[in-house]
Amino acid sequence: MSFQSLGLSAPILQALEEKGYSTPTEIQQKAIPAILQGRDVIATAQTGTGKTAAFVLPMLDKLSGERKRRAKRLRALILVPTRELGMQVEDNIRLYGKHLKVASMCMVGGVDLEPQKQQLIDGVDIVVATPGRLLDLAHQRALHFDELQMLVMDEADRMLDMGFIDDLNKIIARLPEQRQSLLFSATLSPQVRSLASTVVENPFEVSIGGDTQSAPKISQWLIAVDKHNKSALLSHLVKEHNWTQALIFIRTQHGAAKLVSQLEKRGIAAESIHGGRSQASRSRILEAFKSGEISILVATGVAARGIDIDELERVVNYDMPDDADEYIHRIGRTGRAGASGEAVSLVSKDDFKRLCAVERRLGKILDRVTIEAFPVVKDLPASNLNFSMKGGKPKKSAPAKERGTKKTPAATKSTAPKSPWGSVKK
Ligand code: AMP
Repeated sequence: MSFQSLGLSAPILQALEEKGYSTPTEIQQKAIPAILQGRDVIATAQTGTGKTAAFVLPMLDKLSGERKRRAKRLRALILVPTRELGMQVEDNIRLYGKHLKVASMCMVGGVDLEPQKQQLIDGVDIVVATPGRLLDLAHQRALHFDELQMLVMDEADRMLDMGFIDDLNKIIARLPEQRQSLLFSATLSPQVRSLASTVVENPFEVSIGGDTQSAPKISQWLIAVDKHNKSALLSHLVKEHNWTQALIFIRTQHGAAKLVSQLEKRGIAAESIHGGRSQASRSRILEAFKSGEISILVATGVAARGIDIDELERVVNYDMPDDADEYIHRIGRTGRAGASGEAVSLVSKDDFKRLCAVERRLGKILDRVTIEAFPVVKDLPASNLNFSMKGGKPKKSAPAKERGTKKTPAATKSTAPKSPWGSVKK
């Protein structure tokens, strides 16, 4: 299938050709015709599936007709959870719309309000916004929604995870009822469905890769490790396997700074991004990571949201995330657009409950790998797919032996990863 056959207009096809994209991805093949027809859409697709182009391309197509731009009036709104994602989506709009006269802007926090107000006065067609900043400007009457034709909620599940539900409801209440609405989400939890019911009408539903599965091309496994050994193990892995690109997820800002200095002490150059850094330095570091100038980037989950790097080689969960969906999002940074990637988790005994929650979410037990040089003193218990985070205890139905701390065959089971892990001992 070609982009041409999807019904996109010539200036967009030209931009795609210049970018070197010849074949639409699955989500693009399914969503673009429905969006061009004017349908509301609910799409379950992770980052890395080409989802951004799936809504940006038909949006540009629909907005490309002649129109006198009016100050403060937008025609399309794309809501995103983070600044980084907002900037990426807007970059994509500029890229795919380079032969069109569609004006876009990125309306995110962490930067001055005034230039954004001025841009709105000058006139824009598409606004990509984080909910908080959009509401700020709407309250100041810096923009009006009466000419809005299209709404996109990108990474809707993530916006809910980040506590944006009230803001989203306030925004939806301000929008004209007559509009086309698209909702994209990596997962379709009951909460996302409930949000969707207030946003879309009679939607066309598209699901890529199922909504409970992580992207198929990602090899995932874990290494059981004592907590105090994590940074030494990470350094060992980086050196032993000559990692040239790794995004390391860690829970806290403080932890990120500490890990960077521990890595540096072992001769590994690393950088960190987290919510405490200015937008300018986050952008600069991200660019350096993308270009390969920095090979090890330590990030807190929120700061790393929306990082879009073609063929990111691996992500490392230095800490297991508190929320199992967060794991799915993290590993969604790798194995993008058809490339394969790996997701390695360093799991200590105190990560156990979080590991079980992740495995339950995935519906599978992660392969465990032992590194000879790092024997574990505090054993990681056997995994338990019946585990429930409620009350922090496994469900009663779980067999007792699976709850114990003794190693069961499942605990020691490991499958040799396909990647260059020659020295890994099973
Ligand atoms: P996304 O899922 O939107 O984050 O896109 C993941 C990556 O795939 C981005 O780097 C896109 O530029 C790239 N991409 C999107 N569509 C295509 C396509 N049809 N062919 C090749 N790469 C694509």
